Amino acid sequence: MVDLNRKFDVLVIGGGNAALCAAISARRSGASVLVLEGAPKFYRGGNTRHTRNMRCAHDAATDILTGPYTEQEFWDDLLWLTGGQTDEELAKHMIRESKDILGWVVEQGVRWQPSLGGTLSLGRTNSFFLGGGRAMLNALYLTAEQIGVEVVYDAEVTDLTIKSGMFLSATLKRPIGGATEIRASALVAAAGGFEANIEWLKQYWGEAADNFLIRGTPYNRGAILKMLLDKGVQEVGDPAQCHAVAIDARAPKFDGGIITRHDSVIFGIVVNKFAERFYDEGEDIWPKRYAIWGRLVAAQPDQVAYIIFDCSVLTSFMPTLFPPIKADSIAELAGKFELNPTVLEKTVADFNAAVRPGTFDHTILDDCRTEGLTPPKTHWARKIETPPYYAYPVRPGITFTYLGTRVNKQARMVMKDGKPSANMFAAGEIMAGNVLGKGYAAGIGMTIGSVFGRIAGREAAQNARN
Ligand SMILES: Cc1cc2nc3c(=O)[nH]c(=O)nc-3n(C[C@H](O)[C@H](O)[C@H](O)COP(=O)(O)OP(=O)(O)OC[C@H]3O[C@@H](n4cnc5c(N)ncnc54)[C@H](O)[C@@H]3O)c2cc1C
Repeated sequence: MVDLNRKFDVLVIGGGNAALCAAISARRSGASVLVLEGAPKFYRGGNTRHTRNMRCAHDAATDILTGPYTEQEFWDDLLWLTGGQTDEELAKHMIRESKDILGWVVEQGVRWQPSLGGTLSLGRTNSFFLGGGRAMLNALYLTAEQIGVEVVYDAEVTDLTIKSGMFLSATLKRPIGGATEIRASALVAAAGGFEANIEWLKQYWGEAADNFLIRGTPYNRGAILKMLLDKGVQEVGDPAQCHAVAIDARAPKFDGGIITRHDSVIFGIVVNKFAERFYDEGEDIWPKRYAIWGRLVAAQPDQVAYIIFDCSVLTSFMPTLFPPIKADSIAELAGKFELNPTVLEKTVADFNAAVRPGTFDHTILDDCRTEGLTPPKTHWARKIETPPYYAYPVRPGITFTYLGTRVNKQARMVMKDGKPSANMFAAGEIMAGNVLGKGYAAGIGMTIGSVFGRIAGREAAQNARN
């Protein structure tokens, strides 16, 4: 039984990767640490439960990574994918620290496995958790508990008392036992973004947000983020920016996880409810492009789209949880989704006519492209002409939002007046917008959580000591 009346050195709000890295780091720095996880124990770990890998810089191949991924290359990728919308100093600091994180998480009990193949193309850049995110979390929780971190589940924080940039206490609400005031010398906020709060999403997306599916935990409703911003912390990031992918329209509203994602876009074409293409399906290699498709579908009428392909590519991508819908002709396929058959036939015919011969290779930017078509398909364009034909219906799958709390290199929150907070730190999704102004490359979410979690814990412990 955790004694909640005592004052802790460090209070960590959240129970995912960022929270656990912070908690372990703070405890290893000598602090007494309390973790308040809003979810019940079975659902502990937020979006982290769904993860598979983390992107870190490294100078040479390892037993699980096929080659070097230098700091410079990581930075170049980040600069490109965010279009420069990143805090350069902070991002470069994160990338430098990421080199050390691969070993640090192993010291905390996490194990790696070689990358999966297929369309992921991540074997050189990303390390995969043996057993996935849940196994990774279980290892972190075990270590945390072994070294004396105290954890309370079903522990939703409903208020924060903050005076002049200084955290004083948090109000904990539990299903049984009512509200409790939790005191700590320093706070680490690691409670995720606001992606599961449809009403909040509607402020930026309008009614369209009703058609969004949330890929991860229903517990990331942004309550802590909102409290911090309301109580003087400087915000960072565009509230409409988020990581969103195209997921199967048949997926559950929340927590469908990785198996609802579709990686087949580059093998076919994507049409909207008017059976018309709307974006270049072959713009760049899939790990650099998969995260734009949620936004693209969100911008389409009724927030729905259809990935269309033929029998020749059926086994070219990862098997999906929901099987594709099959038909012997394009017109029949259209009928299964109430698409206009004549228009879909024309869209496919126009596409086929525009395809130029080339040598297909999905691992590089190959020379299979269309000519004279708007929008073009600039790589991996091959005719859709071998029946049976297939389609997946897709909707925007929101992964996490980028609006966050501004932090400095110590992961210390920065107040609206530009001064660093006296004792408040942040890590993970809740501050991701510092690094990700827009865009995404696979595995950066976990880098942000691990690197800043570790820093936040260490700094919060030191802060508490002083
Ligand atoms: C399907 C899916 C797959 C993904 N795959 C990858 C991947 O392979 N690699 C990668 O880098 N990223 C991936 N991501 C993104 C990744 O999950 C996040 O970037 C990362 O897990 C964020 O960690 P976090 O600790 O900040 O947040 P989370 O892990 O989401 O943890 C937030 C925690 O805060 C708790 N919480 C929220 N509000 C409160 C409150 N009021 N009181 C108390 N607790 C509260 C929640 O219960 C939760 O435990 C994926 C996301 C999804 C949804």
